[in-house]
Amino acid sequence: MSTTMKVLLGMALGISVGLVINLTGLNASGTWVNQYLTNGLFHIVGSMFVNALKMLVVPLVFFSLVCGVCGIGDIKLLGRIGSKAFVLYLMTTAIAIASALFIASGLGIGEGMNAVANSNFSGKAAPPLSSVIINIVPSNPISAMAKGEMLPVIFFSIVFGISLLMVGKKADSVSSFIEALNEIMMKMVNVIMAVAPYAVFCLIAKAIANLGLDLLEQLLGYVLVLIGVLMFHLFVTLQIILKLMSGLNPLTFIKKMRSTQVFAFSTSSSNATIPVTLRTVTDRLGVNNSVASFTVPFGATINMDGTAIMQGVATVFIANIYNVDLGMMGYLTVILMSVLASIGTAGVPGVGLIMLSMVFAQVGLPIEGIGLILGVDRLLDMIRTAVNISGDAVVTAVVAKSEGQLDESIYNDPNAGNDTA
Ligand code: ASP
Repeated sequence: MSTTMKVLLGMALGISVGLVINLTGLNASGTWVNQYLTNGLFHIVGSMFVNALKMLVVPLVFFSLVCGVCGIGDIKLLGRIGSKAFVLYLMTTAIAIASALFIASGLGIGEGMNAVANSNFSGKAAPPLSSVIINIVPSNPISAMAKGEMLPVIFFSIVFGISLLMVGKKADSVSSFIEALNEIMMKMVNVIMAVAPYAVFCLIAKAIANLGLDLLEQLLGYVLVLIGVLMFHLFVTLQIILKLMSGLNPLTFIKKMRSTQVFAFSTSSSNATIPVTLRTVTDRLGVNNSVASFTVPFGATINMDGTAIMQGVATVFIANIYNVDLGMMGYLTVILMSVLASIGTAGVPGVGLIMLSMVFAQVGLPIEGIGLILGVDRLLDMIRTAVNISGDAVVTAVVAKSEGQLDESIYNDPNAGNDTA
C-alpha cells in the first residue's frame, strides 16, 4: 500500500474512532479512555509527530532555500519569482475573502439569531504594517530561527544564498556541504513520514473525540456555510486559477495533494506541514526545488485562503447577530484587513481567531462575539489549514510553470513520489 493510502486510512480510522469515543461519552474526564487514550496515547504520539515535523521546518527551509537560490543562480529571476508569488498570494487571499463575504451575506447567516457571547476572548490589535515590514529583516538570525519566524528566516537564507553565489569558486565547498545537508534533511522527512499514518490516526482521533458536537449543532448554519465556501474555494476557485494560469490538470492536482491536506488537517498548522508540502510539490507535482523552497514557506506564512474565508463568514455571522450594518466600506475594510493580517501572522493552530480579532477591531464589531464561534473553531481550523496549504501549492505550481520550472512528466505521472506521500 502506498504511503498516501496509509495516511488516508489513518485519517478514516481516526475519524471513526474519534466519533465513537465522542458519541458514546467515553471521553468524559476521569474515564480511562480520557486518561490513557485521548489524553494519553493519542496525545503523546500525535504531539511527538507534530514536534518532529516542526523540528524539520527551520533547517529544511534554510538548506533548501540556500540550494534553491544557488540553483536559480540569477538574482533577477529570483526577484521575478518572488514578486509573482507575492502578487498571486495576495490575489488568492482577496478572492477567498471576497467570495466568503459575498456568499455568507447572500445567505444572510446569523440573521434573526440572538445569541449572547459568554466568553472572555480577548482581542489583539493588528501590528502596524511598518513593523511587519521591518521585522522581515532579522536583527538576529539565530533568534529568528530559534523562534521559527519564517519571514526573517527566508530573508536570511536568500541573502546567504545570493552571497554564496557571489563569492563563487572559493565557496564551492560550502555549496556542496549545504547541498548534502539539504539531502540529509529530505531523508529525515522520509524517516519521519514512516510513522505518519499512525500519528495522523492519533491526532485526528483525539481532535474528533474532543469536539463539542452539540455546539456544532447549535452553530450548524455557520459551520455549514463556512465548510461550503472552503470547499468551493478548494475545488472550484483554486482549480480554475490553476487551469487558467498554468494549463495543468486540476484533477491530478487534487489527487496528488490529498495526503498533504490530511497532514494539514491533522496538525492544524501550515508551518508544521511545510516539510510535507515541500516534498509533495517537488516529488509529486514536479516543481523545481529552486521555486518550491521559496514559495512554500513563504506561502505558509503569508497566504491563508482558508483563514481568510473563515474571517469573511465569521464577520457576516457576528455582524448579523449583533445587528451591525457593515456597509460597502466595512466589507472593503474587512478584505484589506484580512489580507494584511495574513501577511503578519504565521500559519500555526488557532491564529485565525487572533487575526479575526484584528479585523473586528478595525470595523468596530464586538470582539467578544468571537466567543460565540470559539467552541467550533477546532474542527474548522483543521479544515481551513488544508485549504491554506492547497492555496500555497497552487500558486507554487503556477509560478513554477510560468518560469519553466515545472516538470510536466512528473506532474502527469500518477506514481511519481507516491511512496513519499
Ligand atoms: N491553522 C491555520 C494555519 O496554520 C491558521 C488559522 O486559520 O488559524 O494555516
